[in-house]
Amino acid sequence: MSQPGSNAVGVDNAYRRKFNREEYAERAREREEKDEEGRFKSKSKGPPVQRKALKHRDYEVDLISRLGKTQVVTPIAPLSQQAGYYCAVCECVVKDSANYLDHINGKKHQRALGMSMRVERASLEQVQSRFEILKKRKVAGSFTEQDLDERILKQQQEEEERKRQRRERKKEKKKEKAAEEETEERDPDVATMMGFGGFGSSKK
Ligand SMILES: [Zn+2]
Repeated sequence: MSQPGSNAVGVDNAYRRKFNREEYAERAREREEKDEEGRFKSKSKGPPVQRKALKHRDYEVDLISRLGKTQVVTPIAPLSQQAGYYCAVCECVVKDSANYLDHINGKKHQRALGMSMRVERASLEQVQSRFEILKKRKVAGSFTEQDLDERILKQQQEEEERKRQRRERKKEKKKEKAAEEETEERDPDVATMMGFGGFGSSKK
C-alpha cells in the first residue's frame, strides 16, 4: 500500500543499524586495544617468563625408602618430617605415593621447576637415538647388573645399620639394669648411713 513510506522507514532503520554497527565495532576495537594494553602492562610488571618445554625425569622417584618404618610425627615438626611425601620444590606434603606422583607430574610442580606443560615435538633423530640408547642398555645388561649390585650393597648396609642399632639398644638396657641393681645393692648402706640400720640393733 504505502511502499515508499515503509521503504523510508526501512532505509531509516538500515541507516541507524549501520551506524550502530559501526559505532559498536569502533567501541569493540577500542576495548580490544585497551585489553591488549592491559595485558601487556600486567605482563611487563614481572620479568618475562619463558618456560621450557616438558622434560623427562633424570632421577628415580623414591617412593619406598621409608616404607615400613616407624616415625614419630608431631604437628609442629617441619614439613619435611611430617607424615607423607614431602616436595622440597613446592614445600608441601602429599599424603600418599599416588598423589605424590600426581603432584610431581602436575602443572604447579612443573611450573615451579620452570617448565610449561607443553611437550617438545621430538625429531626423528631424537627418537632413533633414544631407541639406540635403550637397545644398548638391553644388550649390555651391565646396567641392570650394576643396579642389582648397588641394591644388594644398599640392603647390606641397611641391615648392618639395623644390627648396630639393636646392639646399642641392648647395651643401653644392660646399663640401665646394672644401674638399677647398683642402687638396690647400695640401699642397705644408705639405710645404715642414715641410721636406720642402727634402729634394728638398738631395739635388740
Ligand atoms: Zn612439588
